[in-house]
Amino acid sequence: MTEHRKVLIAGSGPAGLTAAVYSARAQLGPLVVEGEPSSTSDQPGGQLMLTTDVENFPGFPDGVMGPDLMANMRLQAQRFGAELVMAKVSRVDLSGPPFGVWTGDPDATEPTYETQALILATGAHSLMLGLPNERRLLARGVSTCATCDGFFFRGQHVAVVGGGDSALEEALFLTRFATKVTVIHRRDRLRASRIMQDRALGHERIDVRWNSEVVDVLGENNVSGLLLRDTKTGEVAELDATGVFVAIGHEPNSSVVRGQLELEDNGYIRTFGGSTTSVAGVFACGDVQDHIYRQAVTAAGSGCMAAIDAERWLETMGS
Ligand code: NAP
Repeated sequence: MTEHRKVLIAGSGPAGLTAAVYSARAQLGPLVVEGEPSSTSDQPGGQLMLTTDVENFPGFPDGVMGPDLMANMRLQAQRFGAELVMAKVSRVDLSGPPFGVWTGDPDATEPTYETQALILATGAHSLMLGLPNERRLLARGVSTCATCDGFFFRGQHVAVVGGGDSALEEALFLTRFATKVTVIHRRDRLRASRIMQDRALGHERIDVRWNSEVVDVLGENNVSGLLLRDTKTGEVAELDATGVFVAIGHEPNSSVVRGQLELEDNGYIRTFGGSTTSVAGVFACGDVQDHIYRQAVTAAGSGCMAAIDAERWLETMGS
């Protein structure tokens, strides 16, 4: 039996849960389809579930653990009446309103939910190398966010994997803390823009290991080094480093709406001033539509915008 809703929010990171707080306080009784455990996280809640101390979210002078921040956001949303269900959106039908939302079997004839307004806050994920020890040592020296974790590597030697703008941006940021930053790139030419290359290659604390791929991340409880393979000679050598930042690109979690919503060339949902998308009644917030800032606080802010936009849209529709 299809359940009917006024507002359904897909995703439970800072964007989705902030949208839930606002739409619950607006008496819209939102349902948050919060996602499911994934290959990089045992619980839904977005990328903050993968970090330890978050020191740049305003309001926490002593910092806050990423999972604690998300647990508090959940409680805050629930306090105002938001409902959360641990499930993943497997299919949508955006020909409405109302919009059909499936969880579980995408081939089921009837949608699991029908909603007047849909807020997409499904986030993005960092691409990873796919090594077993990389996953095991995540948040114990392996990171995908220098802005979040760079501070913990003061006075240490860290590695950055990748040769694009993200990798060089991460490397340059890390020079504020680390004594040495080694960029590991699988080819002999960087993909990054010329200006970023000039900045990074000219930096006294950055060096590049060309034609190198990471074959293993070393360390028991924390990262102690990397095993690198020379792509030209096949030679394998160890690199001492206490941190490794994987910066080989991000992917927005937008596949479920592909073909039904306008996307940017890089797959991010296109928004038009605020959170409105190419389909009236469908709103997007957080990292699924933001490839520039990608911060918890900006995601939360855009979740607030999406809830307000949805509320106003529902009013104009007389819902
Ligand atoms: P990207 O441009 O796609 O670069 C990804 C890098 O990771 C490439 O150098 C690639 O190597 C490497 N890579 C991919 N898979 C790998 C693997 N399995 N093992 C090892 N290396 C791997 O991604 P991005 O750097 O995140 O940038 C995405 C977009 O955002 C770009 O358009 C970029 O210009 C933009 N951006 C701009 C800024 C800025 O202007 N400040 C900052 C960040 C991002 P290959 O080169 O060999 O393919």
